[in-house]
Amino acid sequence: MTQVAEPDIKRQRVATEVVPHWIGGRRVAGTSGRRGPVYNPATGELARHVDFASIEEVNEAVAAARAAFPGWRATSLSKRTDILFRIRNLVESHRHDIAAFLTAEHGKVPSDALGEVARGIENLEFACGVPNLLKGGFSEQVSGGIDVYQIRQPLGVVAGITPFNFPAMVPMWMFANAIACGNAFILKPSEKDPSASIYLAELLKEAGLPDGVFNVIQGDKVAVDRILEHPDVAALSFVGSTPIARYIYETGTRHGKRVQALGGAKNHMIVLPDADVDMAADAAVSAGYGSSGERCMAIATVVAVGAVADPLVEAIKARLPKVRVGPGSDPAAEMGPLVTKQHRDKVASYLDSAAEQGATVVADGREHPLYRDSEGFFLGASLIDDVTPEMDCYRDEIFGPVLTVTRVGSYEDALGLVNDNPYGNGTAIFTRDGGAARQYQFDVNVGMVGINVPIPVPVAYYSFGGWKGSLFGDLHMYGPEGIQFYTRAKVVTSRWPDPGSSRIDLGFPRTR
Ligand code: NAD
Repeated sequence: MTQVAEPDIKRQRVATEVVPHWIGGRRVAGTSGRRGPVYNPATGELARHVDFASIEEVNEAVAAARAAFPGWRATSLSKRTDILFRIRNLVESHRHDIAAFLTAEHGKVPSDALGEVARGIENLEFACGVPNLLKGGFSEQVSGGIDVYQIRQPLGVVAGITPFNFPAMVPMWMFANAIACGNAFILKPSEKDPSASIYLAELLKEAGLPDGVFNVIQGDKVAVDRILEHPDVAALSFVGSTPIARYIYETGTRHGKRVQALGGAKNHMIVLPDADVDMAADAAVSAGYGSSGERCMAIATVVAVGAVADPLVEAIKARLPKVRVGPGSDPAAEMGPLVTKQHRDKVASYLDSAAEQGATVVADGREHPLYRDSEGFFLGASLIDDVTPEMDCYRDEIFGPVLTVTRVGSYEDALGLVNDNPYGNGTAIFTRDGGAARQYQFDVNVGMVGINVPIPVPVAYYSFGGWKGSLFGDLHMYGPEGIQFYTRAKVVTSRWPDPGSSRIDLGFPRTR
């Protein structure tokens, strides 16, 4: 297990009493008088506060971004690439510091935090290829002496609003491509774990990114609503829960913005009767309890088909006592606390409602000593069997270490369950039958599919996006669709006639 180093002394200053904004290349203390608490989830202590921006402070950040945009847009592709390489290298060499902030404020254990940073770095590496990614097309001689070509240009000031569960990776999903394409970016991180955003801002500045190209506004609904309404913000990327994603999409588009809003999830893992039970159980435990179930691609529900159900539930149950729950300071810990006490208690409440509604609680995480004895927001790995679609623990996105099992009789029943679900982020099928797996890939109404892979998060050169209530908008995030999102096409039709060859023609231009 990797030990996380103490944050770099030079940057210790970021872990201040009050996490500030970052506007125009410097830290800006809030003036709204409004602040939110930031906890250490492993101890339950109030660690610091974070400023909540006023409308005026959002305006200031947008003005800084707007002022920086023309110069950044005109910066050569090779210079932009050079800066992106430096950003990539700085993030890589400071990954332990970034991971330490994630552990301190989100609670994820070091191995998980370092994995988050690594997946973020993939996006920076993809964006380093921007000269190639922005290449347009050229058609010579579409008509006599006429050529047509397409270029992609940045949108201007774009914003990203991000969730608590990936305080470093999800911002990198967005800003890597956004700034590579020549936009100026405003990040509104989650108020629950905001420090990593300021640390990243310092690294971007150190890499040579001009002031104002990357800004951070801390805050809550006041800041988000101003971003949604601000006439100088051209586009918005959002990742968070489905009700807020829907609100962001509807409000942002009503204000004329381009919006991609990724929402919540309820990811099903289908296990067919022929599956390797040990492999499926290992996958269910890794994907169900990793990051304490606080991943949008976590497996929430195992769908056991036919006779595989009993051995599978037994195999998962047998693995749970070995999942080491503990704080990030414990090098052996595999599963940390939940983000807040309120969230932990809500997650735990599903164990009661499930029992009341007729399910079988196989493992109750409230029996873990850290739930009882620690002030931290811990809950042990929990397993609920015999879950049916009308139960609260099936219908809601629990977003915690509570895995449910639904038993069905056939592949068709399993497929129906997944396709009837209002979410469509990720899904997995476990089987040895290639034909069944291929049929599932064809049939299922979900955006990301794993075949014997429980968390099919696409690599950075594909794009990430769910279907149904898991994504509002047309384009997926990062990868090639991210480049498309952060640019708009301009098509040029050109002619360089010989002097004296022009004539008047009032007809509609024809190529033939
Ligand atoms: P959230 O929706 O509560 O918050 C997300 C962001 O929206 C935060 O920055 C928050 O400050 C802001 N926000 C919250 N309420 C708001 C309101 N009323 N008006 C305007 N802005 C508001 O989500 P969360 O709890 O931070 O994150 C967990 C959720 O995110 C889960 O539902 C999870 O599935 C989802 N998620 C989805 C993906 C994906 O790629 N689809 C990835 C990560 C997380």
